[in-house]
Parts: sequence; structure tokens; C-alpha cells
Amino acid sequence: MIRRVGAGAAVVATALVLATTHGFAQGQRGRGPRWFKTNLHSHTINSDGDSTPYDLFAWYRRNGWNVLVITDHNILTDTAPMQANGQLGALVIQGEEITNEKNVHVNGIGVHTFVPPATGTITEILQTCIDRIRAAGGIPLINHPNWKFTIGVKDLLPLKNTGLLEIMSGYNLMNEYGDGRDVPSMEEAWDQLLTSGVRFWAVAVDDTHNLRQEFLPNRGNPGQAWVWVRAEALTEQAILSALSSGDFYASTGVELTELTATASSLTVDVKDNPDTRQRVVFIGKGGRVLQTSFDKPARYNFKGDEGYVRARVEDSGGWRAWTQPVFLK
Ligand SMILES: [Zn+2]
Ligand SMILES: [Zn+2]
Repeated sequence: MIRRVGAGAAVVATALVLATTHGFAQGQRGRGPRWFKTNLHSHTINSDGDSTPYDLFAWYRRNGWNVLVITDHNILTDTAPMQANGQLGALVIQGEEITNEKNVHVNGIGVHTFVPPATGTITEILQTCIDRIRAAGGIPLINHPNWKFTIGVKDLLPLKNTGLLEIMSGYNLMNEYGDGRDVPSMEEAWDQLLTSGVRFWAVAVDDTHNLRQEFLPNRGNPGQAWVWVRAEALTEQAILSALSSGDFYASTGVELTELTATASSLTVDVKDNPDTRQRVVFIGKGGRVLQTSFDKPARYNFKGDEGYVRARVEDSGGWRAWTQPVFLK
């Protein structure tokens, strides 16, 4: 198996080189990268969440997550005590939801110094946050652009040094599906950005707020949306590195057993679910559907003019997974 690598102009060639150089053929040497279930967006009582950092981390750990990023509003929640408490088998990463004027929110994943909010136009706020997060050693994640219909594609197009884009949230009122008229769904917006040459890796998050009340659709309960990150170790450095290079996929319930890009194809295999059926939709430039496959595994052979190729897995139960784009020359 060849590890897929997304970033960079000559991506496909790079992937092959990396695969050879680092011996990523899984299983060959009995070791290699593993998949880590990760929530990139959560709140505690240090901002508007209802639980302590410890209780929040315990929920995720107990329910099979490997990584939790705590992103309280404009405060750096101290995560060191939880790691020190010996909750092995899971990793908590420090973060911050930089909460700016105009309802512009940007997560700094892996920042360890406070990043202050910014002012200006929406694009200026976003760019300032991106630059400050990068300077602090973190990865910027633009949160819920369609919340209150705040951030449009036109605001995102001028951005430089982009990172992650939230296209699905477990929290309510994020308008991920667009309004069907003026505002595209977040997935459509992502395709518009990619087609225009603005590269984002797409993520799904919980935006967790509520553990203590009854679970209801209008509450920010945990366990709704996440990313599976392929990394060599359960360390902050390895997870951040994989997030930077796009070696992960977003999910609301679908799990993949294979995700492989070579110079000539993208292959996706879906973990069997006895109760549902899945199909894999391959998508290219402009959001064009290139192929729908019911095969296991599903494979798309590149023709060369697709611009990029990504896959969306559609489960008959409503679950989804989104792989990152492979850019073709
Ligand atoms: Zn927010
Ligand atoms: Zn939030």
C-alpha cells in the first residue's frame, strides 16, 4: 500500500517517493502508520462548555477516540494535568478557538501560546488568525463558515497559508448544507475553493459543548463527527504533521479500511457494516462527479484532466466520509 500525500504541486510523484523512502507499505515490516480517531473542536467550562477538561477527555477516551483537541473560546485551557494523570492510550492536544468580531472563529490546533483575536474585514481577520496560529506553531482551522452565513467563498479565496476547513459539525445551526439558493453547502464551497486553486483539507468536528444535559439535537453533544488521522505515532508532533500533509479523512460514521493514492489511481475501501450499504463517489474539479462505485475496494483511475480527485463515501444510513483531494497536474 502506498501512503497518500496530498500537499504540494507534484503530489502524486511525491507520494510514490515517500512511499519508497519511508517504507510505508503497511504490514511489510510489522509496523507503519496507524489511524487515530480525532476530535479537533471542543469546549469546556473554561468557556461555554458544560464539563471540565478532565470529564471531556474521559468521555472521548472511554468511547474510542484517540485524540482530543480542546479549543475553548479565547483561552488556552491547560491540558498538561490530564496527560500527567496517566490517561494513556489517548492524547489531548492544546488548542484555542480564536473568537473574533463578526462571528469569525478560527481554531488554532496545537498552539501553546495565547493567540489574541483580530479585527478588520472578514478576510483580514481570517488571514491574521492564520498568520498568528502559524507563528505559534499551530495549524489553522476555519470553523463553521456558514454559521449565521458569516463567511462566504469570496472571503476565503484571497487567503494564504491555509490549513483546515470545517465542512461538517456535530453542533447545530452551522448551515453546512447551504440554503439551496445563495449559499452553497460547505462541501460545494470546498470544491469551489479547490477549483480556484485555494487548497484546504476538509474536516468534520463535534464542536462539543454539552455532556451533562440530556442529549438533544439542539445541543453540542459529543461523538457526531471526527477525523481519522494516519500517523506513525500517537504524539502531538505526528498528529499535527499528518494533519498538515492531509493524511486523514473526515467522517460522521463511515470507516475506511484502505485509502491509497498512486500515480495512476485513488483506491478507497469501506469497512463493512451489516446493516447498511455504501457507495463511493469520486469527485473532481468543479465538484463534478467522475464515477460512482459499488466495488470493494472502489478504485478511480486518473485520466489526467480532473484537476483533483477526492472521494465521498455515502452510507445508506446517512453516514459520510470525505477523503482529501489528490491534486493532478
Ligand atoms: Zn465557533
Ligand atoms: Zn466551538
